[in-house]
Amino acid sequence: MRAHEAGALHAEVGQRGPAWLGTPADVNALMPQLWPQTVTRGPAGALSVGGRDVRDLAAEFGTPAYLLDEADFRARCRAFAEAFHDADVYYAGKAFLCKAVVRMIAEEGLALDVCTGGELAVALAAGMPPERIGVHGNNKSEDELRCAVAAGVGRIVLDSHQEIDRLTRIARETGTQPRVMVRVTVGVEAHTHEYIATAHEDQKFGFSLAGGAARAAVERILADGVLDLRGLHSHIGSQIFDTDAFDVSARRVLGLAAALRDAHGREFPELDLGGGFGIAYTSQDDPRRPAELAEGLRRIVKEDCDALGLPVPRLSVEPGRAIVGPAVFTLYQVGTVKDVDGIRTYVSVDGGMSDNVRTALYDASYSATVAGRASAAPPILARVVGKHCEAGDIVVKDEFLPADVQPGDLLAVPGTGAYCRSMASNYNHVPRPPVVAVRDGQARLIVRRETEADLMALDVG
Ligand SMILES: *Cc1c(COP(=O)(O)O)cnc(C)c1O
Repeated sequence: MRAHEAGALHAEVGQRGPAWLGTPADVNALMPQLWPQTVTRGPAGALSVGGRDVRDLAAEFGTPAYLLDEADFRARCRAFAEAFHDADVYYAGKAFLCKAVVRMIAEEGLALDVCTGGELAVALAAGMPPERIGVHGNNKSEDELRCAVAAGVGRIVLDSHQEIDRLTRIARETGTQPRVMVRVTVGVEAHTHEYIATAHEDQKFGFSLAGGAARAAVERILADGVLDLRGLHSHIGSQIFDTDAFDVSARRVLGLAAALRDAHGREFPELDLGGGFGIAYTSQDDPRRPAELAEGLRRIVKEDCDALGLPVPRLSVEPGRAIVGPAVFTLYQVGTVKDVDGIRTYVSVDGGMSDNVRTALYDASYSATVAGRASAAPPILARVVGKHCEAGDIVVKDEFLPADVQPGDLLAVPGTGAYCRSMASNYNHVPRPPVVAVRDGQARLIVRRETEADLMALDVG
């Protein structure tokens, strides 16, 4: 959003009513869909998570910190596992991965998607059973493919002809028959930001359906007979709120499956429809529950298969954001408050684009609340910014905060579990924040804070 005159912005708020930015009058309220399930505002006005007061957590672990509500995270894993009980749920590790999270998702019965050698190494080091690991990526190296094959991963999702060459050669050399899927680009544009929509055809992922590349890829894999082709894969984007887009993508992918059956007499036992299920970042977002998603996808696949005379394949999905995104909030401390006359109030926190680049990168929206106390002050329109040397270093574009927000206040930004720590940088040599898992009154570090020594650890000389 561009800079507004204060008046224009208030007019816009007025037009869109309290649904936008929450209710300006109640800066202390917590909208349930934005916060992990154990977060409450206690009698003293401070937030708690997992039974721990955020003021104590700030004192113990410092700020900024990512606080993971472990009960909430596990409940989201279970909700997907139960809703998709007749399918496979691959947690998309790129959303956020560390060894503790790998163990949690394994314990909750999920499988895991990785897309680099680094993510695969974390998964294996944490003891993820290799057969429950899927490997993605549009440019997997020879080494990455060899590692995946040596580990015995459950499946590799093929993304290019060169990769088919590489993997076929590795399989021949090692006398193995890796299980693979072919990633199909189906030409569905999910209703989301351009840079995170990944299934319109002008993009780097997958084999084009319309151009015939997907069919050609399958045909050469079948002709070689070296790789064990389990089925087709489609991932259409991120932050998707309804199943309409999946309706189109499933119909197209299954149409290809039927054409291949007609031409070659081969039916594939599996189908992956990807991830991208949306979450609430602000009061404007209204995500579907896993049970609704599962019901929708199951019906879509069944209807298409019936119409095409195909047996219903085993479905898999790959939620990342929908599992970890809402389970985490970032706790910052306010350092400065600057009222830029007549425009807005800039509230600077002790992190910024190095711990949450999504606002700068995708124009993403977030919300925020003063976390260490309640306030009776009237709301003011604020912008939460970071400490980096970059004008675009914005964490929350617009939010109503109490007019008495001041240096030293703790500020919490919900919905930061996905693509924040995993995309964090050391810009300006700011150490990356820790991740703290809180449950039943216990807080434990699962990723420690970087130190200045870490920042210099790679310098030579
Ligand atoms: C990123 C990605 C996902 C997960 O997307 P979310 O929006 O986090 O659910 C799933 N599958 C593939 C292939 C991806 O690239």
